[in-house]
Amino acid sequence: MKYVDEFRHGETGKRLLDRIARVSKKPARLMEFCGGHTVAIFKYGIRQLLPPHIEMLSGPGCPVCVTATADLDRVIALSQQPGVIITSFGDLLRVPSSRSSLQQARAEGSDIRIVYSTLDALDIARKNPDKKVVFIGIGFETTAPGIAASIIQAKKEKLKNYYVMSLHKLTPPVTRALLDSGETKLDGIIAPGHVSAIIGAEAWRFLPEEYGIAFAISGFEPLDVLYCINRLIDQIESGQPKLETAYSRVVRPEGNPTALKLMYDVFDVAPSNWRGIGIMPGSGLAIKPELATFDADKVFDINVGEPALEPAGCLCGEVIRGITTPTECKLFAKSCTPEHPVGPCMVSSEGTCAAYYHFGGSLD
Ligand code: SF4
Repeated sequence: MKYVDEFRHGETGKRLLDRIARVSKKPARLMEFCGGHTVAIFKYGIRQLLPPHIEMLSGPGCPVCVTATADLDRVIALSQQPGVIITSFGDLLRVPSSRSSLQQARAEGSDIRIVYSTLDALDIARKNPDKKVVFIGIGFETTAPGIAASIIQAKKEKLKNYYVMSLHKLTPPVTRALLDSGETKLDGIIAPGHVSAIIGAEAWRFLPEEYGIAFAISGFEPLDVLYCINRLIDQIESGQPKLETAYSRVVRPEGNPTALKLMYDVFDVAPSNWRGIGIMPGSGLAIKPELATFDADKVFDINVGEPALEPAGCLCGEVIRGITTPTECKLFAKSCTPEHPVGPCMVSSEGTCAAYYHFGGSLD
């Protein structure tokens, strides 16, 4: 296979690992922000191949995992309103909320449909003019432009029955919050490749310059990750943290101006509720007031009743913040498995608990 095999070449990987072992002298705690990196690191056994003084932590970069239980409760309550069709990406359906899950709500009669893009959701709205079709917008800066485009398209077509519930989250503010909390001490960050393709490498300059943390943006193949770790180790050993892109085939300093314009034509920066962290100012996206007719939070009266409860015994909040590993959770691989997940970190294909479960986190 062309193009992918080059980034999985064993000999090159061995050379990168040898170089890391040779250059790295100081203890280093590195966090991969993104769930896609977590999966690559586990799938290719990268943790076990690194010198023992390099510690790898997983961060909050799984969109399903960071969606707050209270927001899931609101989605379920909305799904129970007459004439509503909920459209969502598949992973969200299995995430337990306080009292139920979207999957269970669907079994009890709510019309909840898995879609693969907002194009599918728009199509459902066109074909069901007597229904109210709500797309649940989760994810980071990577998904927000596409969802913004769906609102612009719905406006163009004068669709009166298409809405978005915006649960989008922004990555630089949560990274700053994790560091400011002092809970997680880091020497370097493997920064998210796809998010950075949208927001640009420059959006992260504050990390090396204000926090003095080694920083490099990585792609998702094993050689991408190993090359990124090499860059981080060089910065740590030299004591000179800086902004580096180890994914230059995709990420530009300025990001993608077209996608950013689309995103900020539709959304304003707003507070967002993060699982395990709480409501954080400036860390989410809300639909602009002039597009309020497409905003599910403005159009529907959503009453969830009791405050949200986290699944008993689940440590997802701590796992997301990088202060606990899944194997420290008493439920891991016992009552919580991918077939019967207790928390979202075991549901999502990008969840840290699922990565530990599938690819041998018990080796920790
Ligand atoms: Fe939550 Fe399951 Fe992970 Fe424990 S193993 S933190 S219960 S998702």
